[in-house]
Amino acid sequence: MPSPREGCLFCSIVREGTYVAKTRGFVAIDDINPQAEVHVLVIPERHVDTFRDIAEFHSGETKRMLEFVAEVAKQVGLTDYRVIANVGPYAGQTIFHLHWHVLGSRNGNESRLPQMTAVTEL
Ligand code: AMP
Ligand code: ZN
Repeated sequence: MPSPREGCLFCSIVREGTYVAKTRGFVAIDDINPQAEVHVLVIPERHVDTFRDIAEFHSGETKRMLEFVAEVAKQVGLTDYRVIANVGPYAGQTIFHLHWHVLGSRNGNESRLPQMTAVTEL
């Protein structure tokens, strides 16, 4: 397993947390503050601060990560859903360990998803 970044919440969670799903190198957990009926986070075990640093993953790892996002969505019962990575504080990133939000509702009712927030102060 890659070395954890000291003091990183998601590095701790990928080692000790309760998972919705797990595959080699990646876990999915329920968001503690869900913004939709279903709101899970897909987190790589490897600590990478943000999506900006995606090149630190090998191409095979990136492919497996995205496939896991789709697999997790399916496993938690979603057909229509939104996948979001907030990149940087002005885009809403609060935890600086790359993660993918997967949001949706089990009946596929899109109106239950939050509106996309306009970022006006970049
Ligand atoms: P972001 O704001 O894009 O960095 O997303 C961080 C997400 O992590 C937020 O949606 C939080 O609700 C969620 N979160 C924070 N602490 C925890 C935790 N201990 N377990 C699960 N989700 C968490
Ligand atoms: Zn981390």
